[in-house]
Amino acid sequence: MPLPNQDPALRPNWSEGPRVLLLPGKSKLFYNRHPWVFPGAISGVQGSPSDGSVVALLSHTSKFVGWGLFNSKSKVRVRVYSWNPAEPPAEALFRKRIREAVALRCSLGMLGADTGCRLINSEADFISGLTVDQYGSWLVMQISSLGMGQREEELARWIREEIDSCPDTDFRPKGIVVRHEKSMSRLEGLEGGDRLIWGENPPDRVEYLEEGIRLLAQPLAGQKTGAYLDQRINRKEVGKLCKNKSVLDAFCYAGGFGLQAARQGATRIVGIDQSETALALAQNHAEMNGLAERMEWVRADVFEELARREEAGESFDVVILDPPKFAQAKSALEEALRGYRRLYTLGMRLTSPGGILVLCCCTGLINWEMLENLVEQVGAEERLNVRILHKKGPSPDHPVAASCRESSYLKCIVLQIAR
Ligand code: SAH
Repeated sequence: MPLPNQDPALRPNWSEGPRVLLLPGKSKLFYNRHPWVFPGAISGVQGSPSDGSVVALLSHTSKFVGWGLFNSKSKVRVRVYSWNPAEPPAEALFRKRIREAVALRCSLGMLGADTGCRLINSEADFISGLTVDQYGSWLVMQISSLGMGQREEELARWIREEIDSCPDTDFRPKGIVVRHEKSMSRLEGLEGGDRLIWGENPPDRVEYLEEGIRLLAQPLAGQKTGAYLDQRINRKEVGKLCKNKSVLDAFCYAGGFGLQAARQGATRIVGIDQSETALALAQNHAEMNGLAERMEWVRADVFEELARREEAGESFDVVILDPPKFAQAKSALEEALRGYRRLYTLGMRLTSPGGILVLCCCTGLINWEMLENLVEQVGAEERLNVRILHKKGPSPDHPVAASCRESSYLKCIVLQIAR
């Protein structure tokens, strides 16, 4: 029997529809399954595709490279979804991608009726421009490309139907909301706003379970899609190091790391954040989980508060630093590195002898080597013996496609600090 893509009856005719031709020498990256085609790689467009429509991507010798969605307004002129001539980006392909994404989270043991889990992670699930998070019974679709925005109604239906027919999970969504990533809407020409796209409206706060801790997400109002799910496993692992320890959770947002530390037996936890809303949510979480007695929340600028506590001679057995992204563009990199240097210096000074320092960095422009060099330099300046215990990325429900490693950003490094 011929393979499907060799059966002429099943092969969509890519030579007839709109086509984007690559320049000589530019095809390899896309044969290698990179999903973003920038204008600099393109020699011409044939057949006047409308924005968001399907195009075939061809090499300069007119060989098939992949199927993508076109957008003349975006710097990502074509997003590639398929490298198989028999699988254009239409219902069958998207359903397959969604099915595979759900199956992965089931096999990781991360998707259950009441969990918080990333179901679809854009490029890493080969659906560029679509991110889907689960919070309890609700799904939050985050759209960051025009092609996905134009298909959001269908995508919501396919996601729901594929989950409903999945035998490996007891999760059944009650409702789906859609959010358009603000910064991308402008760049992609995306219109429309955040709304319920199917099912029941979520309550203002949706409860879900993260590794034994009850948490609340705000699907339509919180930061990102409501919480920071990427640190789920890191929180649990760091929590294990906190039994009978004092813990400083800086940039704590809704208390993620501190709550796990408390659950796993920390004696005292101080959480610091500049956002009053985040701290109110953190306090709420502490109460819901019966951990409030050991937890204290401080509204302050982390840099100032850490300097103040260091001057006062304070120290903690475990110090966690999980700041926001410090640099969006290369031009901001030097300043970002100065910021991390200052923070790591304060962190090392505040860690008790023999204690643990957890450094998280979600600036994609800073790679592991840069981070480790910085740790080495600050350790030497502070005349400390610094050892690396663990290096971790995001939880595996946030995978990274090997062909698109620039979408990787989160690094978490666990250090032991000795005098
Ligand atoms: N650790 C959190 C996620 C942190 S997100 C978790 O596990 O969920 C980054 C947080 O840093 C945000 O809540 C933001 O309000 C806070 N933040 C940013 N800059 C800050 C500053 N200079 N001082 C204090 N908090 C800051």
